[in-house]
Amino acid sequence: MGYEYDRVEVPDDGARIEVVDEEADELSVPENPIIPIIHGDGIGTDVGPAAQKVLNAAAEATGREIAWMRVYAGESGREKYDEHLPDDTVNAIDEHRVGIKGPLTTPVGAGFRSLNVALRQTLDFYANVRPTYYLDGVPSPMKAPEEMDMVTFRENTEDVYAGIEWEEGTDEVEQVREFVEEEMGFDDTMHDGPIGIGIKPITEFGTKRLVRKAIDYAIEHDRDTVTLVTKGNIMKFTEGQFSEWGMEVAEEEYPDEEVFAVPDSLWETTDDIDIPEDAVTVEERLADAMLQWMQLRTDEFEVMAMPNLNGDYLSDAAGAQIGGLGIAPGANFGDARVLAEPVHGSAPKRAGQDMANPTAMILSGRLMFDYIGWKDAADLIRDAVETTISGGEVTYDLARQREDAEKLGTTAYAEAIVDNLEDLA
Ligand code: NAP
Repeated sequence: MGYEYDRVEVPDDGARIEVVDEEADELSVPENPIIPIIHGDGIGTDVGPAAQKVLNAAAEATGREIAWMRVYAGESGREKYDEHLPDDTVNAIDEHRVGIKGPLTTPVGAGFRSLNVALRQTLDFYANVRPTYYLDGVPSPMKAPEEMDMVTFRENTEDVYAGIEWEEGTDEVEQVREFVEEEMGFDDTMHDGPIGIGIKPITEFGTKRLVRKAIDYAIEHDRDTVTLVTKGNIMKFTEGQFSEWGMEVAEEEYPDEEVFAVPDSLWETTDDIDIPEDAVTVEERLADAMLQWMQLRTDEFEVMAMPNLNGDYLSDAAGAQIGGLGIAPGANFGDARVLAEPVHGSAPKRAGQDMANPTAMILSGRLMFDYIGWKDAADLIRDAVETTISGGEVTYDLARQREDAEKLGTTAYAEAIVDNLEDLA
């Protein structure tokens, strides 16, 4: 591709990750890949460098080295370029295929859309992926938090997040109201007076590529089930259609022995169905019921695929069950590209004090390693983080919920993880 960069350098001690097959998500990853990193705003300045330490240690312990390419966005982008999302940053992530970012503050003021949304849309990161699993020693409100081990695939580009909406009082909103009432015949449906209207687009293309990603992930990671989560009983032609298209992917694109689309799974039990023994099963569930089953029958769910808004609610609820924001990792997947990022935001009141918990950013890096096939390094990171937390070395957010733990700053906590990682390697 070969972009020209204005104010950042491509490291000359690393090699580029190359695409072998874009649709099949196949990359060729050197032992010294160039990986762009955005530290991020607020606590990003604390957790970014701390995560880098741990990721470096895991790479080195498994015979590799990362050539980091520091790029800028948010406040650091504004300082360096007078722009919140400079072209250098977007191009670096585009060219190098795999990157990691800390949280970015959404600038307050008219005309600013979220930088995160802009990045996801510009580079078509269409799946937001959040693994939610319990780490021993993390305080949780649940009786058996260790039963949670699921990965959510949230569609990232459509649904009510597509931004097709009209403000009350505008000519446009009145035009849409008139069209819906008079042309489409819904004249008794909306109350009179000021109104806001939004549109919820869900396409076959957007749905199928998301569900395909979730199924492929389940196959690759030896998971047994993929659950499609919608409110298809109410929003039949959007969410219901998502479910139908998702089941079509399972039925038509994979052999039954590999992926089995369970018929009528919304309303029937699977007791009388002959399911091939080693197949990944794909089932449908309703979102409201899912929110209670996640608590009552936690260990039944493994990979979940859903439209954007359901994914937003459900992945946060799942995250709370295993200890909350400071430890919840995530990543945005596109075709043969990934941008890892913690779930949390920039937590301005905790920024720059060397106190924030870097676990979420470290585990996001773990997800990035998993994506590029560095499974040994990814496992090492999980084990080292768990050893550190269960051994009682934690940051303030977990320390305040535990009586038996030592409170460490961000840097000291990352160093404790590195020590444990070197012992475990
Ligand atoms: P937030 O930044 O996630 O922080 C809310 C609270 O969660 C913090 O005050 C802190 O609680 C706790 N927390 C979050 N991350 C933590 C960590 N790593 N370690 C310890 N505690 C942590 O949410 P917000 O205050 O609503 O959002 C602030 C800014 O971030 C906004 O501009 C928002 O747009 C942006 N944001 C960005 C992203 C992203 O870049 N992907 C995501 C979400 C929000 P205590 O203070 O109680 O300890």
